[in-house]
Amino acid sequence: MSSSGRHILTAPAWPYANGPRHIGHVSGFALPCDMFSRYQRMAGNQVLMVSGTDEHGTPIQVQADKEGVSARELADRYNRVIAGDLHALGMSYDLFTRTSTRNHYAVVQEIFKGLYDNGYIFPQTTMGAISPSTGRTLPDRYIEGTCPICSYDGARGDQCDNCGNQLDPIDLINPRSRINGETPKFVETEHFMLDLPAFTDALGSYLRSKQGEWRPNVLKFSLNLLDDLQPRAISRDLDWGVPIPLDGWRDQPNKRLYVWFDAVIGYFSASVEWARRSGDPDAWRAWWQDPEALSYYFMGKDNIVFHSEIWPAMLLGYNGLGDRGGEPGSLGGLNVPNEVVSSEFLTMEGRKFSSSRQVVIYVRDFLERYDVDALRYYIAVAGPENQDTDFTWQHFLERNNNELVAQWGNLVNRSVTMAAKEFGTIPEPGELGDADRALLERSRGAFAAVGAELNRSRFKNAVTEAFDVVRDANAYLSQQEPWKIKDDPARKGSVLHVALQVVDDAKTLLTPFLPKSSGKVHEMLGGQGDWSGMPELREVDEDGVSYPVITGQYDDEARWEHRPIKPGTPLSKPTPLFTKLDPKIVDEELARLEQA
Ligand SMILES: [Zn+2]
Repeated sequence: MSSSGRHILTAPAWPYANGPRHIGHVSGFALPCDMFSRYQRMAGNQVLMVSGTDEHGTPIQVQADKEGVSARELADRYNRVIAGDLHALGMSYDLFTRTSTRNHYAVVQEIFKGLYDNGYIFPQTTMGAISPSTGRTLPDRYIEGTCPICSYDGARGDQCDNCGNQLDPIDLINPRSRINGETPKFVETEHFMLDLPAFTDALGSYLRSKQGEWRPNVLKFSLNLLDDLQPRAISRDLDWGVPIPLDGWRDQPNKRLYVWFDAVIGYFSASVEWARRSGDPDAWRAWWQDPEALSYYFMGKDNIVFHSEIWPAMLLGYNGLGDRGGEPGSLGGLNVPNEVVSSEFLTMEGRKFSSSRQVVIYVRDFLERYDVDALRYYIAVAGPENQDTDFTWQHFLERNNNELVAQWGNLVNRSVTMAAKEFGTIPEPGELGDADRALLERSRGAFAAVGAELNRSRFKNAVTEAFDVVRDANAYLSQQEPWKIKDDPARKGSVLHVALQVVDDAKTLLTPFLPKSSGKVHEMLGGQGDWSGMPELREVDEDGVSYPVITGQYDDEARWEHRPIKPGTPLSKPTPLFTKLDPKIVDEELARLEQA
């Protein structure tokens, strides 16, 4: 980590530990955050990127019951799978941990207490659906029955898909559990509620201050939610989760904090864990308490409400800044998010990603067959940044072959190969002409332009501008035709020097998107040391259980700046940067989808 610059917390959403990740997931929360974080590190800022697996809640308990394992065992399994997926994508987490750690429990309980002491959490007796056989809360969507309005027989406890009306599970005729078919029991049960209406004013000023900074759709959606904030239950009848840290509740085996309440606190608890692991337990404060520090949260649009409304409300409440006032909790005031960066949805060949219907391509399977940078490039240039977007194998093939291979791979290959063959080292430039100087200026100027786009999380614009430099360099080579220069080695050296300088610049400009192949270009040009750091998987232990975390040292070479290449640096004959794909992969992949 560099010693200057601003402290920037980058927070990609926590994947739910119920299965492997598919590319629809990682196009929203993961890859955009990594591109942003890598850029900010290169620009000299002190980035802390933390996340982990979200492991509590009824869906995991239900799936575990179905498979005859404990919730903990299921979470252990998918924590490992997901950590493997994200590591393979090159996600440069400072710490990727999980929500089932002692540290997370302690931090969640501290935030609960702060909110409770300030009066923003209150108990309420409600009628809740319970599974008679397990005593656990049956969430609304796990109950089905006949719609009281249209008599449709497959209505869910939260809504009827036939007539579209919102429902309350207690209104269903012949309600039954979707888990095991039994009739739910409606009983009086006491739960804690988060008093969201007490934050209407504070959230309103917070959100309105983001006008012009956030993506307009995210801000509009968030402002609309303010019109109807309701108290929200933060506990459940369940034995898998964080216990409620109050006398009379702590030891109740079937009362736990609701999973969404604990999961959003993960950003903070993971920062605390990172600080402890780094040897300075207070190191998190620079990202959470310094008013100059910045924080950016990345997610799919189905998660906006938790990041733009509920998490800021929890932080404001802990700080004592809602309608009821109060004092900051024992850790001191905590920073609210500076920006909530939400992506839209990715579909797959015109259909919604669905693990159950096998309309899916898992990260692991994808990376077995294709380069990681091919996926990263596709998501940057054609991902669901501002609108729902369809992934098709045909588009993927075209982006890979026509852009990565034919433009960037070709530029690197032909300039390095020719210079290595003719000179063996980076050639000395002679006197430069207008065309030479114009391309060099163009390339240097791109740092400010591409950097400004990356700083606003406009990945599509950023990668497109970086690629324009690559296209211009290819046009320059086609025009100068250095391969035809026979009797003027000085001129040939100048053209190749200019081309290699632009290759070096473009490698830097493309590093946030394509860290792995940029590292290869760095080596080809005679660079020493790691160019852009890659994450490592490390086994850690807690209570006798071993599990992986992702971490890494990212204080590497890459800086967001033009660096003059040094004549005389030895060059090696390049190996291809990317793999050209056979058009038949399109039919093969479509056949895999059909079979499934
Ligand atoms: Zn209905």
